[in-house]
Amino acid sequence: MAQEILIDAEHLSRYYGPTCAVRDVSFQLAKGDVLGFLGPNGAGKSTTMQMLTGNLAPSAGTIRVRGIDLLDAPKRAKHELGYLPEQPPLYREHTVDEFLTYCGRLHRVSGNRLRVAVDQAKHRCGLGAVGKRLIGNLSKGYQQRVGIAQAILHNPAVVILDEPTVGLDPIQIREIRALIRELGNEHGIILSTHILPEVQGVCNRVQIINRGRLVFSDTLAGLEQHLHSQHLIVRLRNAPAPTEIQQLPGVAAVEVLDDGRLRLRYEGASPAEAIAETAVNRRWGLEELIPERRTLEQIFIELTMQDAHMDAGTSTATEEAA
Ligand code: ADP
Repeated sequence: MAQEILIDAEHLSRYYGPTCAVRDVSFQLAKGDVLGFLGPNGAGKSTTMQMLTGNLAPSAGTIRVRGIDLLDAPKRAKHELGYLPEQPPLYREHTVDEFLTYCGRLHRVSGNRLRVAVDQAKHRCGLGAVGKRLIGNLSKGYQQRVGIAQAILHNPAVVILDEPTVGLDPIQIREIRALIRELGNEHGIILSTHILPEVQGVCNRVQIINRGRLVFSDTLAGLEQHLHSQHLIVRLRNAPAPTEIQQLPGVAAVEVLDDGRLRLRYEGASPAEAIAETAVNRRWGLEELIPERRTLEQIFIELTMQDAHMDAGTSTATEEAA
């Protein structure tokens, strides 16, 4: 069954004066999607997120949220959106209950519905026991839960989270990621992050933006295909001359690595089985035969380095936080 399309962004562009920050970006978000949105600093992530949340008008293009045009009917469209900015606007001197009640009123929820909505959001974010605590006294992990609770309070179809695990400790990160995965069952989620393993741990789709353009967009399953590098790493105790190996069917190139292992490039299906068989028959002393896998980090760097002026900030893209 086709999934309901929650966000349909078509040909989005945004200029700041002569600078084109986002150029002709189109994508869709379906119910159940947890979309990881990646890119080096300055690539256009914040600009795109701000356009999607209705906080910045596109210079060109359209955004429909559950079919409602964000520019034509911003109030209705925004009702379907929940947003956790990178710096959540939390009132530290409020209790969790006071703050969430206030946020509910901003979304025009009132009376008994408001009490139910606050209770549900607290329950879903594991805040049941801290309703009477001052936000300023909570740990950063719990403050982030409050930020997520305000984003889902009005039960929006789409939840947009900007760097939701930055500054958390590893245990808090695990908890927030589990919460995001769970929210993905009921909502469509867009998650901007610098942490590549977070994408692989939480998301089912990945998009990479570079210099304002989408340069990669695929499901995680599709990404797996990209991770296969068409290379095998082989260690042989009695290796023959590389030319002998290169003559094997399917082997396109042989490279001898510094540690003596061989890196074979192949075309089409993997020749691993034939290589194992030949190695046994010809007594090459097969010790190791492994498919080489690339990482998301390598793909990210290849795609974003192509024409980039990589600045120092970009190195955070490779950070493992958990
Ligand atoms: P990211 O969030 O991926 O770091 P941004 O969307 O913040 O990227 O920025 C994309 C580009 O637009 C950058 O070149 C940035 O310098 C530029 N930019 C962002 N905001 C403004 C602004 N308010 N005025 C002028 N240029 C801006």
